[in-house]
Amino acid sequence: MVTSVKTVAVLGAGTMGQGIAQVFAAAGFKTKLYDINSELIHHGMTAIRNNLAAAVEKGRLSPDEKLQTEKNITVCSTFSEIKADLIIEAVTEKLDVKQKLFGEIEKINSDKSILVTNTSSLSVTQIASALNKPSRCVGLHFFNPAHQMKLVEVIAGTDTDPELVALMMELSKKIGKIPVLAKDSPGFIVNRVARHYYVESLMVLEENVSDVPGIDKLMRSAGFKMGPFELMDLIGVDTNFSVTTSLHEAFYPDPKFLPSKLQQLKIEAGHLGRKTGKGFYDYAKN
Ligand code: NAD
Repeated sequence: MVTSVKTVAVLGAGTMGQGIAQVFAAAGFKTKLYDINSELIHHGMTAIRNNLAAAVEKGRLSPDEKLQTEKNITVCSTFSEIKADLIIEAVTEKLDVKQKLFGEIEKINSDKSILVTNTSSLSVTQIASALNKPSRCVGLHFFNPAHQMKLVEVIAGTDTDPELVALMMELSKKIGKIPVLAKDSPGFIVNRVARHYYVESLMVLEENVSDVPGIDKLMRSAGFKMGPFELMDLIGVDTNFSVTTSLHEAFYPDPKFLPSKLQQLKIEAGHLGRKTGKGFYDYAKN
C-alpha cells in the first residue's frame, strides 16, 4: 500500500467531486478530475474557479495560492489517464455504479494505490467486496460543501487494512479536515441521525401542515443553519432520495426511513435542486 500519498484522482465532478478536488489541490496534491460526462468536468472546473475567486475576494486566499491550486488540478479526458496514489470516487450513490467503476480502476492502477469511497450511506465493505484487493478500500465521507465543511467521517470496511485507516486519519488532518472514525453502518453517524430532518419534513409537507418556505423559515428560526428543503436542494434531491432509500433497505427495511413519493416525483421531473437550477425552489429566478 502507498504510505505517502502524492497524487490524487477524483472520480465524479458533481456536487461533491468538485469540492473534494479543490481541497486536495489546495493542500498541494497533484489532483486529477474525471467524470463520465465531459461537460460536467468543465462545469466542475468552473465551480472550483468561482469558489477560489470568492475566497480571494474575501481575503481568505492570496491570488498566488489561487493560481497554484488551479495548476494542481488536471482534467482527465480519457479513463486510462486515471492513475494516482489515491483515487476517490464521488459518483452517483448506487452500489453497482461504484463497484463497477472501482473494478475498472483497479485494473489500470498499481496494487499499491488506495481506493476511497465518498459514499453517504452504502456499505464500504460491500463496495470493497467487488475488488481483487478489498484491503485497499476505505470510506472518507466529506460533507457538503466539501471545500468548506471541516468534518470527515473515516470508515473502515471489514477487510480494510488498519494501517490505511490510520493513514486516512493523518491525511484528513493534512488537508485541513477534522476526521472522526465511524463504523461501517448504514448512513454512518451524521446521515443516519440527520435523515429524520428530511423524512419528517417531507411528511409535514405531504400532510399540508405547512409549505416549503414556511417549514424552512421555521426550522431556521428554531436554530438550524438551513431549512430541510433548501438543504435538500443543496445536497441534490436525487442523492438525498438515494441515501434515504439505501437506509430504508439496509435496516430490513425500516419504515422510519420511508422514501418520499414527492421527492421521487421531483426526480422524475429532473428537478434535482441547485445542480439543475430547480428543486424545491426555482434558482433560475434568482
Ligand atoms: P452528483 O449527482 O452531483 O455528481 C455525481 C457525478 O458522478 C455526476 O457528475 C456524474 O456524471 C458522475 N458519474 C456517474 N457515474 C460515473 C462513472 N461511472 N464514472 C465517472 N463519473 C460518474 O452527486 P454528488 O452529490 O456529488 O454525490 C456523489 C457521491 O458523494 C455520492 O456517493 C453521495 O452519496 C456522496 N455525498 C454527497 C453529498 C451531497 O451533499 N451531495 C455529501 C456527502 C457525500
